[in-house]
Amino acid sequence: MGTGTLHIDLDAIAANWAALDAKTSVETAAVVKADGYGLGVSQVSRRLARAGVRRFFVATVEEGVVLRAALGDGFEINIFSGHMDSDTPFLREGKLVPMLNSPEQLARQLDRLPDAPYGIQLDSGMNRLGMEAAEWSATRDQAEAGALTLIMSHLACADEPDHPQNAAQLAAFRAMTDGVSVPRSLAATGGTLLGPDYHFDFCRPGVGLYGGFPFEDAQPVARLSLPVIQTRPVEAGESVGYSATWVAEKPSKIATLSAGYADGLIRKMSDRAPLYAGDIPCKLAGRVSMDLVTVDVTHLDEVPDHLDILCAHQTVDQLAEHAETIGYEILTSLGRRYRRKYSGEVW
Ligand SMILES: *Cc1c(COP(=O)(O)O)cnc(C)c1O
Repeated sequence: MGTGTLHIDLDAIAANWAALDAKTSVETAAVVKADGYGLGVSQVSRRLARAGVRRFFVATVEEGVVLRAALGDGFEINIFSGHMDSDTPFLREGKLVPMLNSPEQLARQLDRLPDAPYGIQLDSGMNRLGMEAAEWSATRDQAEAGALTLIMSHLACADEPDHPQNAAQLAAFRAMTDGVSVPRSLAATGGTLLGPDYHFDFCRPGVGLYGGFPFEDAQPVARLSLPVIQTRPVEAGESVGYSATWVAEKPSKIATLSAGYADGLIRKMSDRAPLYAGDIPCKLAGRVSMDLVTVDVTHLDEVPDHLDILCAHQTVDQLAEHAETIGYEILTSLGRRYRRKYSGEVW
């Protein structure tokens, strides 16, 4: 086996969705953008549909078309980026619902797809996507007169429960939307955990479904096993890898494994992140290269045929710390070369 194996537990994704759903008294949608956070949008979304999800979100219309093909009709597919100039045929063919982010997008929607449903995304303080309060009050009557299906906004600091911006954004969202007749949504994973004030009519978690922070109680979803290609002894004073950054302090044993930064093992992990031989940690020794990593296995009695870099001992967030990044980036960087093995039934 030349490449690593990425084990994806679809039943754990379904269990994480059910656990988040149980924290609220409202509907729970699912965010499956970026190919289901790197885990495969078709498998992930079909497992979630079986668990009961009816409303999905992706970033772009191209993702929406792929998702529609995976799910078929009968599910609401919402597009965060709204209705951009070239999006019209995708929206029409995929029966996708754009989250309109500006008066220009609203005008385009009403002009080109006058009868099709749409949502509105409001900016409540993140300053990334969505209409500002003044834009919304200028277009609200027009938006509500059309096929408006939902209103949403997004929190910038929801993974920090004590951050004052949470309450400020909540108040801004309420001020802009109290009295509307369509469903409202403010909470992603972080907001779902902030409590009922943030839940409105439905929540839309992403990363928590895939086992990531801030959903601390999530079941791990991904296990990544990398095969050992060869092992070699190195003498004290010998170096390993590009730029000779790791130098043996004593006679050592180095294993070379098949996976590198081309597979999403971020170069910052070099000389830092552990892999696991069962329960035993073994640290990266030397730079991560494109297709290979080298690991200090001196302390192992026997070198197994693979080591795990994601497993029960190392979550995506723990691995992320070794690369000074976040679990989201680890997940969405997971390489195309890995053999993907799914467990759990889709429909
Ligand atoms: C990505 C995203 C989500 C999901 O966020 P998580 O933190 O992964 O739960 C929800 N809403 C919007 C607008 C997003 O961009």
